Amino acid sequence: MEKVKFYPVKGYIDLQKNAASNIEGFWKKEAAKLDWFKCWDKILEWEEPFAKWFVGGMLNASYLCIDKHLHSWHKNKVALYWEDEKGNTKAFSYFQLYREVNRFASMLKNLGVKKGDRVVLYLPMIPELPIAMLATARIGAIHTVVFSGFSSHALADRINDTSAEVLITADFGIRRGKYIPLKEIADEALKTTPTIDKVVVIRRTRESINIEPGRDLLYHELIKDAGDYVEPEPLESTHPLYILYTSGTTGKPKGVVHSTGGYLVYNYATYKWVFNISDESVYWCTADVGWVTGHSSIVYAPLLHGATVLMYEGAPDYPSPDRWWEIIEKYGVTIFYTSPTAIRMFMRYGEERIKRYDLSSLKILGSVGEVINPEVWEWYCEHIGAERCPIVDTWWQTETGGIMISPVPGLELVPLKPGSATLPLPGIDAEVVDEEGNPVGTGIKGYLVIRKPWPGMLMGLYKDPERYKMVYWSKFKGMYYTGDYAIKDEDGYFWLLGRADEVLKIAGHRLGTAEIEGAVVKTPFVAEAAVIGKPDPIKGENIVIFAILKEGYEPSDDLKKEIIKEVRKQIGAIATPQEIHFVEKLPKTRSGKIMRRVLKTIIMDKPVGDLTTLEDEASIEEVKAVYEEFKQMMKEA
Ligand code: ATP
Ligand code: MG
Repeated sequence: MEKVKFYPVKGYIDLQKNAASNIEGFWKKEAAKLDWFKCWDKILEWEEPFAKWFVGGMLNASYLCIDKHLHSWHKNKVALYWEDEKGNTKAFSYFQLYREVNRFASMLKNLGVKKGDRVVLYLPMIPELPIAMLATARIGAIHTVVFSGFSSHALADRINDTSAEVLITADFGIRRGKYIPLKEIADEALKTTPTIDKVVVIRRTRESINIEPGRDLLYHELIKDAGDYVEPEPLESTHPLYILYTSGTTGKPKGVVHSTGGYLVYNYATYKWVFNISDESVYWCTADVGWVTGHSSIVYAPLLHGATVLMYEGAPDYPSPDRWWEIIEKYGVTIFYTSPTAIRMFMRYGEERIKRYDLSSLKILGSVGEVINPEVWEWYCEHIGAERCPIVDTWWQTETGGIMISPVPGLELVPLKPGSATLPLPGIDAEVVDEEGNPVGTGIKGYLVIRKPWPGMLMGLYKDPERYKMVYWSKFKGMYYTGDYAIKDEDGYFWLLGRADEVLKIAGHRLGTAEIEGAVVKTPFVAEAAVIGKPDPIKGENIVIFAILKEGYEPSDDLKKEIIKEVRKQIGAIATPQEIHFVEKLPKTRSGKIMRRVLKTIIMDKPVGDLTTLEDEASIEEVKAVYEEFKQMMKEA
């Protein structure tokens, strides 16, 4: 990676140390960069494990993301570009966004929505989604965005958990040219959600839909009676901005509650550091707004900075695998933020198509959601970033509210190491510890923990303080348990190794799934792999691999042998895989993460558990069939 021009490392590690030694003073300076209606009385109230930041302070997210910009030239600057699969576009200046948000907020008020009420948003990637979020925040209501790819069951679960009275949805979503009947799915969910009183339907198409008189209302009609201005409600810093459910990769989704003050301060600060976001930025995060990445990276952080945000509705490779590169060229995107799953998909399509586009506007590339293995990192750097753009591999969680471990080119770019998220952000006291909670030291695997509260941290799990304590604070005393497995190298760099509860214990060794998967995808013919452990009375666990082959390769015993060879070479004989299965698809969450727990239950012949966030049922059927066949073969042998 010598070709990327690194800035000299001056005092980043010192900065980090200073921040950690005076957490409150450090965050106070960052908080002072936002406009507060009333200043806080106390920076941090820490009653472990509950943190309250900037107590006594009053502010409003909608005001900070929009109204504030009306007093400068930002007023007429593009806040939001929107584009769909067909190439239809919309653009909103900060002033236009302000108009839309105010009218939406007025409509919510007319429906009787008040401060503290929960509003569920089940919407596709259309401008009305961020508008609805900002409108909800404007009046002090709490939004819960439910990803529009979710089933009626997942939607009903989330509505019932939040006991929301208002649901905002659309007639249809559009993906791969197909209409997804959101209203119909919502109708199904609404059969089991007694708290919902009003459903507002946004028209995306002219198709006919069911309208339940008295309950269902059309947005374009309601908005006619809406006023042009709603005073932004001054809200306590600790007032919940939103509830968002985690992806459900490891189990039943958790209802994460984020505050207003701490969350906004944290995101404002970190998006400057990580993405060097500025007035000139055209910022494109390809996540769905339905994930935390979408909340922080599409809506709150860039708008707080008065940046220009791009929002795209559609699949990444539809109508052609050129779609994303075409968009980067068209808008002159400067910051591009996506996931390893997406990058791996484009790797499969090859580089030729990318070369046709002018991607020279790009300045910083980001990755989030999963471990990015070095091969994928290098490919991203070379073919998208032209070995010119630093890659920020950002580690964070729904719970952390914002990025926690990542390079920070906006402050000072440390030398990058492909596959490492590098160092914790200033003010973040991250460590890798052993079973007893003691730092493991250089080069040894352990659990990733955060030892001090930070402003973006969750306030708790909605109406479930016990689960909050149990999941995050019971494993280690006084430390936030991330559930991830990591290693720190001799430079203090963090290497994420996957989920701690997916770690394999083989003959006394603990191996991260990501480590083994990384070795498998090093072979030239594997596109993607998932590794799980199968209990073994002698060794503890055996390694089972499910692998997807790149185009042009057929499953064979020779390929299996090569995989075994590569894993032994990369990790050691200890990691010799016991079983290798080739599949077309892997079970993934809707956010693109491999659901290893599901694979494990299939090979163990156990019930698969919560599948509400599964992307494609067919993947499970395939794995089941492949595994049945394997078991049959073993019997016969
Ligand atoms: P659940 O908690 O319900 O199982 P989830 O953990 O997948 O779901 P998210 O909060 O969306 O839900 O994802 C956070 C997790 O994603 C992290 O804990 C980590 O495992 C993984 N992750 C995110 N970013 C990175 C990254 N840059 N490198 C490695 N892993 C990452
Ligand atoms: Mg999680």
